[in-house]
Amino acid sequence: MATKANEAREIIAKALENQSDVCLTCSFQAEDMVALQLLRERIPNVPVLFLETGYHFAELYAYRDEMTARYGLNLVNVMPKQTVAEQESVFPQLNKTKPDQCCKLRKVEPLFEALDDYSVWFTGLRRVQSPTRANLQPLDAFPLPTGKQLLKVSALFDWTDKDVWAFAKEQDIPLVSLYDQGYTSIGCEPCTALPADPGNARSGRWAGRKLECGIHIAGGH
Ligand code: SF4
Repeated sequence: MATKANEAREIIAKALENQSDVCLTCSFQAEDMVALQLLRERIPNVPVLFLETGYHFAELYAYRDEMTARYGLNLVNVMPKQTVAEQESVFPQLNKTKPDQCCKLRKVEPLFEALDDYSVWFTGLRRVQSPTRANLQPLDAFPLPTGKQLLKVSALFDWTDKDVWAFAKEQDIPLVSLYDQGYTSIGCEPCTALPADPGNARSGRWAGRKLECGIHIAGGH
C-alpha cells in the first residue's frame, strides 16, 4: 500500500512542478477522497470542485458538508445555469429521456466553464472503473472547448478497489454511508441503482444506458 501511495505522491509532485493553478474534481466517492487526501498533503486549500447537479442523494450532501467542515475544505460547488425546478419545468424527465443532454447541462458545461480558471486538473479516476477508462494515463493533456489545454492528473490510475479501501482505512478517512447500503459507484440519485452485476461497480449507473457523463471524454463530446 505504501508503494502505491508513494507512486501516486510522485505523480502529484511531477504534476505540481512549476504549477500553481490547480484544482481537484471530487464526487465525494472513495477514490476521490483518497486523491483529495494525497493532494492535501501538498496543497491543503486546493479548490475542491463538486458538480452540484441538484440531484444527489441526501446522504451524499450530508457527507460532503461533514467532510468539508472536518477538513476545512476549499469547496467549490459548480452549478448548472438552471435550477432543477427550472429545468424540470421545461424538460420534466430529461434524466430519463435524454440523460446525455441532462449530464451536458448539469455537469459537462458547468465543469468545463469552471476548469477554465485552472491549468492542472486532478481527478480520482482509475483504469479498473470502466472499459472507457482502460487506457487512462496518469498525466494527460485535456483540451477544453475554449482551446485551453489542461494537464489532467489521475494519480490513482492503476489502483484497484482494494487499494482504495485499504488506503482509506489506513488514513482513517470516513466514507459516505451509501456504500453500507450496497452502492458501489455513486452519482445523481435518479441515475444510480445498486449494481446489477456484482463484478462491475459501475453497472448501477444510468441503468446500463451509458457509461460516462461526458466530462472524462476528451473535449467533452
Ligand atoms: S447523472 Fe442523471 S440526473 Fe445527473 S446530470 Fe446526468 S442525467 Fe442528469
